[in-house]
Amino acid sequence: MKGMNNLRQLLNKETIHENESKKMPVLIRKLCLVLIAYFACNVLALAIMGQVVAMAGNFVFGLLYFVILIQSYRVHKLTTVWSFILITAIWGFTMLCLFGFNSSFQVFPAFLIIIFFFAINEHFAAKVIFSVILFGIYMFMFNLFGDTDPFLDPGMAGQKYIRDATMFVVLLCICISVYTFSNESQSLEGKLIEYNKKLKEKANTDPLTGLNNRGMAMEYLEDFARKADEMICSICICDIDHFKRVNDSYGHDIGDLVLKAVARVLMNCTVDKGFVARWGGEEFFIAFPNMNGDDAVSVLYTIQSELRKTVVMSGDQKIRVTLTYGLTEYDKNMPLNQNIKDADNKLYMGKEQGRDRIMY
Ligand code: GH3
Ligand code: MG
Ligand code: MG
Repeated sequence: MKGMNNLRQLLNKETIHENESKKMPVLIRKLCLVLIAYFACNVLALAIMGQVVAMAGNFVFGLLYFVILIQSYRVHKLTTVWSFILITAIWGFTMLCLFGFNSSFQVFPAFLIIIFFFAINEHFAAKVIFSVILFGIYMFMFNLFGDTDPFLDPGMAGQKYIRDATMFVVLLCICISVYTFSNESQSLEGKLIEYNKKLKEKANTDPLTGLNNRGMAMEYLEDFARKADEMICSICICDIDHFKRVNDSYGHDIGDLVLKAVARVLMNCTVDKGFVARWGGEEFFIAFPNMNGDDAVSVLYTIQSELRKTVVMSGDQKIRVTLTYGLTEYDKNMPLNQNIKDADNKLYMGKEQGRDRIMY
């Protein structure tokens, strides 16, 4: 377990170039490790079979990928990527020249294109040109070597082994590359969705009380106004009575505590029944979807009585506040602003008539 962690740390180590992302070098390191293991296995098997030349060839390629692995920590990202592409191309062509098309040469161009497309930040046109060149070379090679006998004949079993082993290791490298990039883009997408959600939440929330803000309330109302005509909704604007006195007597911080306490009462009393927002300084907005004025009034009575029981302490002083409420049934025949104005007018009348009352 500890060994695995060390290996992971080693693979994920930053390059010495601070302004470069380590994403691509890390992938190349993983691929190099797989290929080094592959060539090491070949070297071992060929040594047992006494195939000295083939063993040396595999050793050289294993060594070359080892060099790329080491240099990925020290050189620029692009140097690492191009070295990898170059060595892999040489490996592919060596296989082609020695063992013909049956050596799984076909998978090499695909692999190189995948690495190039993901790794190089050039324009799309450059990637397409690279792909076309590779494809051209491939077709040229196919016409040159397609019909000729391979330079070396490793026998039926040897040919089969070379074909399957090469195919397996190159496909494995393709899988690792595609997995790494798809995984990364998915996790990035997940992060962006989460970030957007947080951003939207922040934009729609009043930071002091945690309630929806006025913008969100307007969105809610516009949404309701667009809904079917038979849907009903009651809306209320309420305002803390003589709040200025609270601030003047106990200070702004205590005033904030009172605002939070009122917000909590409004929220608790309207769970599953309504939508609450901070409308302005010490004004709040409540929407009661699917409720006529009578139903909404009964909720407001609950709020009123809960508020009477709510105390905010300033030292040993108990502060209680009341609200005045302007309630109206939303009339879809009138513009949205007119409905809001109606609730506002009722609130104003409540203030005129002595406060701490529900006007409907
Ligand atoms: P009325 O009963 O007529 O509504 O009287 P009022 O004193 O509540 O109304 P007024 O509009 O005179 O004063 C509202 C006060 O609310 C003034 C403002 O300083 C205070 N206020 C607005 N926003 C905040 C806030 O976020 N925190 C605190 N502590 N006070 C606020
Ligand atoms: Mg007030
Ligand atoms: Mg006010």
